[in-house]
Amino acid sequence: MNRKVLEMSWYSDFICVGGECPLTCCTTWWKIELLDEEIERYEKMEHPYADEIIQAIDKEGNRFKGNSCRKCKLLTEDGWCSIVRKCGEEYLSLTCALYPRQIKDYGDIVERTLDITCPESASFLFKKEPVFFNYNEVEMKEEFAPIDYESYDMYAMIRNYLIELWQSEEWNITYADKYYIMLHLYYKIKNLSERGRFHSRSAKQMLKIFSKSDTIHALADVSKAIHNDREACLKLLHYFFVRTGDVVVENILINRERNYDIELLNKWLRDRDLFIQNVNDYLEHFRQTYPRMAENYFVYALFLFWMEKSPEDSEKIILSSKLPIKCVEWLWIQLIAASFWTRQKKIDEFEVYIAEIDRCIDHGSVIRRELAKIMKEISFDQEARMLILALF
Ligand code: SF4
Repeated sequence: MNRKVLEMSWYSDFICVGGECPLTCCTTWWKIELLDEEIERYEKMEHPYADEIIQAIDKEGNRFKGNSCRKCKLLTEDGWCSIVRKCGEEYLSLTCALYPRQIKDYGDIVERTLDITCPESASFLFKKEPVFFNYNEVEMKEEFAPIDYESYDMYAMIRNYLIELWQSEEWNITYADKYYIMLHLYYKIKNLSERGRFHSRSAKQMLKIFSKSDTIHALADVSKAIHNDREACLKLLHYFFVRTGDVVVENILINRERNYDIELLNKWLRDRDLFIQNVNDYLEHFRQTYPRMAENYFVYALFLFWMEKSPEDSEKIILSSKLPIKCVEWLWIQLIAASFWTRQKKIDEFEVYIAEIDRCIDHGSVIRRELAKIMKEISFDQEARMLILALF
């Protein structure tokens, strides 16, 4: 059976660096999941190394066990997987074989990208060329459950519009304006969906309006009016930093192997002027050094986190609630980068920090919940307030 495959250009360029990787994914910070049938397969395996694999499995938790350094027991000292070395790649579990590839099934449509929790994937964000998408029809044996294709088309159509908006130079609008239009559209659809009033007809109408030059420039004017008061934006950014700082420092930065500058972050908590000055200095550097990084990040976030299958009815496609949290994650990636830049005037291993922050926020349900709670408390889940993110 042929299935349609939509793939982000990074997907096929990815190569795992294994032993060279500074932030291996073979870690018990995560549950490296094993299916029952995979455990059974290892148990039945006739291979001299089979016993060691079985010893490394936590059968009750359906996962691989870790060592005292929170690394998978089967990871060799030089950072490679001993299953691959001793038995071959075909013996890897599904989770290990796929990571960091992200494959989303929408009936007969398959979407593929990478997860930036892997530093090698995160380094694609620095690319100076725009991301592009490949579309193919591929023969696949696996069964698939059909979905409501009308709702898929509706969300995919708006996502395409937003991705094109991010990548287009046609409208002569700034990065901040694009950011504002994306959030404006997101909250508009969210409100309509909550009232059961978002459907195919409204989506088409919305696109018609949002594709008009007048609409784009009217929204860009609103964005400029908010954003031109730079001082107010930076003060608001500091307020956001103070409110979310504890959650991030306690849950992400402490207890990690990497050297986060907690001292400077604490200084910023107490000294708003210093914060504003340091962030301003970093912004200059960021724009010159990484001209397409923000665009790449949001194109990636939109592709992976714009829509999802409804938990109540897996045939139905709905707007994902993840976009605002990806915006907050972006802010923290930048704040951490700003702290390195302030101290060293360089950011070593930027991709590793991105991957680590993404691991903690995107895959850490407790942190995500806490951040979402704070955002709600300080009304940071509203488009105008979130516009401060456009500073980066
Ligand atoms: S994090 Fe990425 S590069 Fe590192 S070992 Fe895992 S897949 Fe390979």
